[in-house]
Amino acid sequence: MNTVDTLVDFLNGIDGQGYKAYKGLRGTWAFPDFALHVDHVQGDPFAAPSRVRVILPPETAALEGDVLTSRSRRLGVASLLAKRFNETARRTMVRRGSGKSGLIEIETPGQEVLAQTAVIVGEHGTVEARFRIGLPAQGRRVCGRAAIALVTTDVPAVVNQSLRAGSVGHQDIRQHATTNEDADALRAELAARSWVAFIADGAKLARRSGVDDRPLLGDTAVPFSTPAGLTAEVELPNAGTVRGMAIPRGVTLIVGGGYHGKSTLLRAIERGVYNHCYGDGRECVVTDPSAATIRAEDGRSVAGVDISAFIGTLPQGQDTKAFSTPNASGSTSQAAAIVEALEAGATSLLIDEDTAATNFMIRDRRMQALIPKEEEPITPLIDRVRSLWETRGVSFVIVLGGSGDYLDVADTVVAMKEFRPSDVTADARRVASELPTGRKEEEPGSIEVFRTRRPDPTSVDPSTAKREAEIKVFKKHSLVFGNETIALSAVAQLVSRAQTLAVGRGLLLARTRFMDGRRSVSEILNLVTEVIEKDGLDELDDRKVGDLAHFRPMELAAALNRLRTLEVCSTEAAEAGF
Ligand code: ADP
Ligand code: MG
Repeated sequence: MNTVDTLVDFLNGIDGQGYKAYKGLRGTWAFPDFALHVDHVQGDPFAAPSRVRVILPPETAALEGDVLTSRSRRLGVASLLAKRFNETARRTMVRRGSGKSGLIEIETPGQEVLAQTAVIVGEHGTVEARFRIGLPAQGRRVCGRAAIALVTTDVPAVVNQSLRAGSVGHQDIRQHATTNEDADALRAELAARSWVAFIADGAKLARRSGVDDRPLLGDTAVPFSTPAGLTAEVELPNAGTVRGMAIPRGVTLIVGGGYHGKSTLLRAIERGVYNHCYGDGRECVVTDPSAATIRAEDGRSVAGVDISAFIGTLPQGQDTKAFSTPNASGSTSQAAAIVEALEAGATSLLIDEDTAATNFMIRDRRMQALIPKEEEPITPLIDRVRSLWETRGVSFVIVLGGSGDYLDVADTVVAMKEFRPSDVTADARRVASELPTGRKEEEPGSIEVFRTRRPDPTSVDPSTAKREAEIKVFKKHSLVFGNETIALSAVAQLVSRAQTLAVGRGLLLARTRFMDGRRSVSEILNLVTEVIEKDGLDELDDRKVGDLAHFRPMELAAALNRLRTLEVCSTEAAEAGF
């Protein structure tokens, strides 16, 4: 058995040798309170740090039984422990030589609570943390003494202070567990009651800044207040009765003056597809898990998407039943985003005027009079939302301060004033009947069938000259896949680097296991989702690196659809759907 004593002897023995001598650390070392697994040793002190795992048995982790009783609870606890590990490591870490010597780092969750692989809490209370350490060097030589300090002092200190229930605090752990369970229960109510989203009274929606996702604190933060008319109550397993605003399925508009909180509300709804940690302010803001944010993204590529429901004959006669371009316009990109989202299974679409193409959203009476229909390929969304809702059951939440024409097609209208919502549906009906727009509805035809797309596997190539598969993420919105870099900054519901990396590995899995030229995009997305549901995120990377987080079919589709080499073959769908 490799004990701490043999570890110390080993490190003393290689002191002063070339850095490669560290390779002998690979394997499992038994510490008094945990097992340390060294999975991969870095090649030199400046390279990516070494990958290790610690596994704490239930006796040492000391989690109370009631925080382990459901998957939701365990995920809430795991996310908290990963954050604590990160905070403690940052505090405790000591620089112990050249390059990355002494480093201790873990992939840290943000405000969202996702299934992730950095810290895993098992059903019986085992806690596993996967992280990276920088093995100490002097120049490029092994520094035995510093290495002993790192692995026998620094690492155990971080582990003991952040992964053991006694030092984290049972109360805190329980709060994170039950908050997460309540959020899942609340989201489960949405389908049962035919709601798109639920926003609890008192929720804090505003964020600290555009680059800081933590809640805005202090007197300036106006808590959410439920408007009469849209009030609902839900019974939660832990928190008891929660009151809030329920947005019914159908077509909902969020209107109001500029700077009155419309986009902030929509943003909270968009993030409500995920749970939020205790203290975030959005713990009880939940949304249809299959809601997708749609925005214009001019310049993106599009591969064979059937946008004919929105865009007719283009100036140079391009086929809009299988529309491809390396450089989409605002309106064609937004049309493609809607069809791609539906293909990935979206049942609610979220749109903000701030990030939409005006000519895709609306054409008013005067523009209809000036530009004849024959010269305008776009059928604006306003003429499509009713049929998408009525024939396909797709709900909309649309932020729109600038065009009252949409009042004609809305089921529910919420007005934001000084960050407080009110239900103005009745007023909106009255205004709509008193002031007819005089615009003509365009092409109220069927929208039931979209063409099926089948990806050509050779167009999805993860390899480079050096490697069979190269998947990397530098920043949250930039995914390296083979020789391509997929730009994801318009994908609003990607929330962490770990999620983007998991999407990249999901794309690799899709390519190697399921793309055969015959399977459709939606079939492939479903197959990947099934694999992860059944076998977990480790199925995406058997090296157990600890840098992956859960994603939805929509995010996987978003990456595939933005891969510039993607080619598809498209055929008429046999039946309604894709
Ligand atoms: P709109 O879309 O209506 O123009 P935004 O949602 O962009 O308005 O909000 C404008 C500003 O007000 C933003 O800086 C936002 O962070 C802030 N804000 C939004 N909601 C609240 C709130 N409930 N409390 C405090 N500040 C808020
Ligand atoms: Mg706005």
